[in-house]
Amino acid sequence: MNLHNLEYWQTKAKSLTIEGRAFINGEYVNAQSNATFACISPVDGKKLADIAQCTDADADLAVTVARNTFEQGVWSKQAPAERKAVMLKFADLIEAHGEELALLETLDMGKPISHAVHVDIPGTLRSFRWTAEAIDKIYDEVAPTPDNEIGLVTREAVGVIAAIVPWNFPLIMASWKLAPALVAGNSIILKPSEKSPLTAIKIAALAKEAGIPDGVFNVLPGFGHEIGKALALHNDIDTLVFTGSTGVAKQLLIYAGQSNMKRVWTEAGGKSPNIVFADAPCLDEAAAAAAAAICFNQGEVCTAGSRLLVESSIKEEFIKKVALAMQEWVPGNPLDPATNVGAIVDKVQHERVLGYIEQGRTEGELSSGGNKVQPVEGGFYVQPTLFSDVDNNMSIAREEIFGSVLSAISFDTMEEAIQIANDTPYGLAAGIWTRDLSKAHKMAKAVRAGSVWVNQWDGGDMTAPFGGFKQSGNGRDKSLHAFNKYTEVKATWIKL
Ligand code: NAD
Repeated sequence: MNLHNLEYWQTKAKSLTIEGRAFINGEYVNAQSNATFACISPVDGKKLADIAQCTDADADLAVTVARNTFEQGVWSKQAPAERKAVMLKFADLIEAHGEELALLETLDMGKPISHAVHVDIPGTLRSFRWTAEAIDKIYDEVAPTPDNEIGLVTREAVGVIAAIVPWNFPLIMASWKLAPALVAGNSIILKPSEKSPLTAIKIAALAKEAGIPDGVFNVLPGFGHEIGKALALHNDIDTLVFTGSTGVAKQLLIYAGQSNMKRVWTEAGGKSPNIVFADAPCLDEAAAAAAAAICFNQGEVCTAGSRLLVESSIKEEFIKKVALAMQEWVPGNPLDPATNVGAIVDKVQHERVLGYIEQGRTEGELSSGGNKVQPVEGGFYVQPTLFSDVDNNMSIAREEIFGSVLSAISFDTMEEAIQIANDTPYGLAAGIWTRDLSKAHKMAKAVRAGSVWVNQWDGGDMTAPFGGFKQSGNGRDKSLHAFNKYTEVKATWIKL
């Protein structure tokens, strides 16, 4: 995809027709109450569209059609290879509409257009294509039975899935749920974040065009405490998959217990340690990666490397390098292809990030950034910020800020690094920088996190399972492990 220039994207933005209705049973429809809410762009604070504000009645309707299509087998009983072909067509249509989807993502949640084009769209395509390709290559099991029996261990689609997703990577996060859920034969209801509903709504029409039968893929926009809660409490949803904050994840587990004990799989928050030893292969490279780990996507990344653990002997030198590297990350107009830091998703999150920066000023030492900036009038922007001399007990080191605020903490020994790294309720990711192979392996084993990256940050692709230890969630997205969420295991024992 070509990146063009600022004028190109501004002109394209003006000519966009934005769909804001829900998608149920293959049609765009208003919420049954006809209620809508305003979708505001964080780029400039202007309204983009009115969005259907779905509630309980819409949940009931969508669940009924999803259940019917599942029971009728219009999708669930198709051969895996047939579903695969449709999903690959769906991916091709997403690619064909890639520019429009990238632009919607940027306008809706503020990320730089260059990242939407080069990260979000390709990441979404890889998710759909890799997962679709896998489905007709997975075999079930035949058990080692006595001669007079045959034991079959098979996987079958769960049924009706609800997927509740966040706003930081709206399309990619949705695709990690949609791809395995759909290709495994389930019917699904996608609830995008109220802060970023546009691409989810847009791809529903592409799913229909690709040949996904009506009622199999539904999109219900709206607020978490309304439509999100209605889905989580619904008695005819078999599985709820979620990506979002740990607080909401906990609430969803309660809702499941209060209703039909639907399976709940959560991908939740993080406060990931990026651990740099004095014997890191290249300190300049480690510093550039540490900056990117907190600046990319405005720091609105579940795996942001928000705690930088640095061996004391190199601390001064290394922090200077990180501060320098962070100066390469400059907030600008998200529609300008040269911009690498966009807008914060909305006013609430903007104030939250600024609040933590104020808190940090009283707790640690501000080494870089820390200011609100205004590259586009009316939008929400803040400079990437580095605090040095942070203690792991300070709130900027303990709480997930979900913004570009980096806390640097020093350590003296490997044992101390492990203790600090694991002293968090979260366990999503960790980075380890060392030339010592033995130390790298020991650290990788000791750190309680779902993803560990050695001498890099954010390694892996669709082949890598993704998810958290501890309060970062349960289950895994991506890779073949993702199918565990969308299938039930059945044992069929036959006496011969
Ligand atoms: P959030 O928890 O506020 O919202 C996530 C989704 O849940 C939204 O669609 C929201 O409308 C819905 N929701 C909110 N309250 C609800 C309720 N009571 N019942 C049902 N649904 C409800 O999270 P967010 O602010 O959108 O996203 C940021 C969070 O997501 C961060 O904590 C981040 O770490 C996490 N995240 C995790 C991963 C991962 O894979 N582990 C990936 C991306 C983001």
